[in-house]
Amino acid sequence: MSEDLQDSGKPKEACGVFGLYSRELEGELAQRTYFGLYALQHRGQESAGIAISDGERTTVVRDMGLVSQVFDERRLASLECGHIALGHVRYSTTGSASWENAQPEFHGRGELNVAVAHNGNLVNAVSLGEELTAEGFEFNSTSDTTFIAAAAVKELEQGRSVGEAVQAAMRRFEGAYSVAMVFRDKLVAFHDPHGFRPLCIGEVEGGYAVSSETCGLDIIGARFLREVAPGEVVVIDDSGLHSFKGESPRPALCVFEYVYFARPDSRFDGREVAGARGRMGELLAEEAPAEADVVIPVPDSGISAAVGYSKRSGIPYAEGLIKNRYVGRTFIQPTDGMRQLGLRLKLNPLPSVIEGRRVVVIDDSIVRGNTSRKLVKLLFDAGATEVHFRVSSPPITGPCYYGIDMDTREQLVGANSSVEEIRAHIGATTLAYLSNEAMVAATGQPKGRLCRACFDGDYPIPGSSGKFALENRTHYAGTRSR
Ligand code: SF4
Repeated sequence: MSEDLQDSGKPKEACGVFGLYSRELEGELAQRTYFGLYALQHRGQESAGIAISDGERTTVVRDMGLVSQVFDERRLASLECGHIALGHVRYSTTGSASWENAQPEFHGRGELNVAVAHNGNLVNAVSLGEELTAEGFEFNSTSDTTFIAAAAVKELEQGRSVGEAVQAAMRRFEGAYSVAMVFRDKLVAFHDPHGFRPLCIGEVEGGYAVSSETCGLDIIGARFLREVAPGEVVVIDDSGLHSFKGESPRPALCVFEYVYFARPDSRFDGREVAGARGRMGELLAEEAPAEADVVIPVPDSGISAAVGYSKRSGIPYAEGLIKNRYVGRTFIQPTDGMRQLGLRLKLNPLPSVIEGRRVVVIDDSIVRGNTSRKLVKLLFDAGATEVHFRVSSPPITGPCYYGIDMDTREQLVGANSSVEEIRAHIGATTLAYLSNEAMVAATGQPKGRLCRACFDGDYPIPGSSGKFALENRTHYAGTRSR
């Protein structure tokens, strides 16, 4: 694994989307969208963009970098006119971190134009792009977001209402998509029939907001209304909020949102993610107890589970690793000398907590295992007498095709090694994972409503694995995913 400062050793979330519709808040929309994106920053750190529309003209500012790097007072002021806003933060899954890939994206033909912000990944993007090209659309790239926009434009050309047009376009999409879109005087939000990635609606003064997570609503003072249902299209305009319900044969919210991706203060189905993570830690303590003196988290994502583990086991909790919250967010390329320092640039152990102690360290997942190995060494170097590694999710055994930058099967240590082999690889005294059943139980969701495919191979979209895996992998690698 080539580790640099950007690399946390974790799967990368692909994107966050945000939308706002309010005439009452005109003049404040760009700023509120800025804060919405600020709250969703964890979902993508490579580029950010905001589009503002007055129903006729749409202005967009997008660039590489964090929300706070892309936008300043001057840039936000250039986005003052309009009552519809669209926002996006992006992490590129193919390494093509360029300005062209920043969103919101536009696509149009003739008089019809849409601006789109997308979180997810279409597994049929290549064939869809070929079909749309045959239908006369021209593309500069193989972007699944552009294909979503073009397919919507195609249906709008038939004279359908925007809700019906999006529903018709959705029949052509296969995969994960949580989308916010601006078309003329309407803000549209739509969700794939499986509901892989989260998407919710809130109420603001004189209108509505949509956000990948509830933390995006909270930060602007929006009142949470509900989640966008799997398969649903929501159209917001001056006459209010209109819902076009769609079919959802198999809801499959990504369980990894609970394990790692979502912010702990976000809520799914009214339940805080932090609570689910805490229960994962408690169940882990039941399933995999350890004789130890202290429980420490790998910050930040391991904190809630470590608190839960400590509570259930009775072993005291302490912060034993201090995270530098900023080093992983720099765009300055590390020198080889800095790379040698590796993990220590991001995590510094506290000897007063660790020295001479038997330590239980709680992490949310292990992907390739290299970061875990460095972490274990860091703890032993800081004086730990034993390191009991506990993981608050099961071994990752397969890649994700639904909008998460997960490694290939060959690179996933959980796909190719036994737990004992992984323990030996990372050098821990003991190693244990949470069971699949306990992970699901901790979310409070029925098993049938979650995607757990990277843990158990049960891919909700047929053809995402098995003999089609290679083909889909090609699609995945050949398109820009979000
Ligand atoms: S395969 Fe894993 S990461 Fe991807 S959507 Fe399913 S549970 Fe989430």
